[in-house]
Amino acid sequence: MVQKRRISRVVQIGDIAIGGSNPVAIQTMWDRPINTIDDALVTRINNLKELGCDAIRFGAPRLSDVELLGALAPQLKMPLIVDIHFDYRIALRALDFPIAKLRINPGNIGMERKVFEVATKAKDKGVPIRIGVNGGSLLSSLKDEPNRAKALVQSALDEVEVLERIGFENIVISVKDSNPEYVDEAVRLLAKSCDYPIHLGITEAGTLIPAITQSAFYLGGLLKDGIGDTIRISISDRIEYEVMAARQLLSLLKIDERRMPKLVSCPLCARNSFDTHYFAQKIEERLYGMQGDFTVAVMGCVVNGPGEAGHADLAITGAGNKVFVYRKEERIFSGDAQEAERFFLEQLTLLEEASMHATPRA
Ligand code: SF4
Repeated sequence: MVQKRRISRVVQIGDIAIGGSNPVAIQTMWDRPINTIDDALVTRINNLKELGCDAIRFGAPRLSDVELLGALAPQLKMPLIVDIHFDYRIALRALDFPIAKLRINPGNIGMERKVFEVATKAKDKGVPIRIGVNGGSLLSSLKDEPNRAKALVQSALDEVEVLERIGFENIVISVKDSNPEYVDEAVRLLAKSCDYPIHLGITEAGTLIPAITQSAFYLGGLLKDGIGDTIRISISDRIEYEVMAARQLLSLLKIDERRMPKLVSCPLCARNSFDTHYFAQKIEERLYGMQGDFTVAVMGCVVNGPGEAGHADLAITGAGNKVFVYRKEERIFSGDAQEAERFFLEQLTLLEEASMHATPRA
């Protein structure tokens, strides 16, 4: 069971509020440079919203990047966050556009005068700043601190102090490391040390399996203890997986207010007469866009297929040389695999339409 939520200040990121008792927001980060804005780009990003993404972050190493991101922001269905290191002029220019948040490290920006200029403009525009400290870019004065978690938190609080000194408190904080144990310790310490919203993540968490496993174990543990206001599951793979993994985690912890269908699918064995791997993957992303407390089962054979179908709202299962489709417990189709798949997808569309009348997230 999830413990009582740590209640932080509320920070507005475009049209979503984070912190306080607001839902934990899901973020991802675009994984390559943007040289042009076209329909394919806008569509792919907006599809992330359908999967459950609440905000997307872009690195902007060049001044020309923020010009493109400024043009992109109004075309997106979710807040756009700009991530800037070193050159404060890029941050200043980014603030001329309808961006929802800046991620900077004052330590990387350099002289306090430059940080002051960025924070003053962000304050005028109502744009929050995330202080994002990573183990790989700790301030040199803290690199020798033997307690890594303490060093991460101290670094973040030092950065926060720079902003607070100039009256800027519209802040979100993250303390990330590639070692999840340090992240766990640092976030818990940070949660006790301030009341700013905390963004959770393990940086450079690796490929799909280690990234999801570490994030589920460590970030899930923090969320279970009521800590964390936004989350990114960083994966060296498709950004869609980052959103889907975060969604699964929040759903498992029952802290995602968006009701998501449950997919039951068997792993296959020698008895199968229906390829569940192929078919489950084919429908998986569609399910993320659906609202509702229903279950879809994709099963390989009659050993467990009809039994699972009995618990599902819609099910498909191999059955010897036939494939059956069930709605609730009732078998409503029997035929070859191709026809059964087509029939199942039609039924899924009906469920999808019904789900659109379910209450979406506010
Ligand atoms: S449902 Fe059938 S095919 Fe799938 S794992 Fe179980 S026994 Fe094997």
